[in-house]
Amino acid sequence: MIIILKQGSTPEQVEGVESTLKEMGYGVHPIYGVERTVIGAVGAPGADKEAAADQLRALEAVADIVFVLKPYKFVAKEFKSEKSVVRAGDVEIGGNRVVVMAGPCTVESREQLLKTARAVKAAGATVLRGGAYKPSTSPYSFQGMGLDGLKLLAEAREETGLQVITEVMHVRNIELVAEYADILQIGTRNMQNYEILEEVGKIRKPVMLKRGMTAKIEEWLQAAEYIVMGGNTQVMLCERGVRTFEPYTRNTLDLSAVLAVRELSHLPVIVDPSQGTGRSSMVPAMSKAAVAVGADGLIIEVHPNPEKALKDGAQSITIPAFNQLMVDLPAFAAAAGRSL
Ligand code: PEP
Ligand code: MN
Repeated sequence: MIIILKQGSTPEQVEGVESTLKEMGYGVHPIYGVERTVIGAVGAPGADKEAAADQLRALEAVADIVFVLKPYKFVAKEFKSEKSVVRAGDVEIGGNRVVVMAGPCTVESREQLLKTARAVKAAGATVLRGGAYKPSTSPYSFQGMGLDGLKLLAEAREETGLQVITEVMHVRNIELVAEYADILQIGTRNMQNYEILEEVGKIRKPVMLKRGMTAKIEEWLQAAEYIVMGGNTQVMLCERGVRTFEPYTRNTLDLSAVLAVRELSHLPVIVDPSQGTGRSSMVPAMSKAAVAVGADGLIIEVHPNPEKALKDGAQSITIPAFNQLMVDLPAFAAAAGRSL
């Protein structure tokens, strides 16, 4: 169960609730928010929950008690019925406007990044993507520019005003990446890297958690729960395709996951049609489909010269293709009751 404490509860009152829970045999997981504290109480299988709740309700500091029977609590819809909005600078993710994040798979050079950043900004994107630290299936492929890449992303933000999203791959890099980025991306290969999840739970920057390529939705939500449990409530999910038996597309983009998340959670959902299909020819149509189905945003790989891209050229769309997509998308957003 989740115990929601009254605004302005004193530290002594919070402690009192925590020790009552512990006496009842519960494990206690508090989130000390700016406005109020909430406490997740789990792991007392023998306890009479209703009786425990009655006893807790009698405490002065307790405002409400919510029962969540799922293996994730804070990210569950039962905990919070209205959708969460994640804020990165002036960009709101999860509000009425569909957010478009765009840029190269990987930061390759100053010229490549700035050219792409200027173009996607002019077309209406509000967030710039670009990997500085790249997870690679092959140890022989380009691993990213590292710190130099982060600096270029910061320079592009300075010039264009775009917010920056980039991947954090190692616990040891979290602080550094958070210094340069506005949103931290956790890649598909790290969705269940619990050390990273716990560490990004301690910072106060938005995090985009990609779905593991073989992860069930429930596992994905539990991974998000790790971050929120740490007190970082600024979490969004990203569907990026799952591995199936089909090799024609790089992954199978599971657009029903957007609906599943909407049914189960209050967290915003982004769709990545680039990793999701692996084919630039499919990216525009799958972007439109994602918006039509209710995604809160898109993350799209755009490259000034996909044929020369060091990574993911086959799934990167050109600047003209991105421009056309941005002309076409508002109708799909409108059909879903949103704007761009
Ligand atoms: C990427 O966004 O370029 C990327 C590596 O994503 P994923 O973790 O989904 O493969
Ligand atoms: Mn990529």
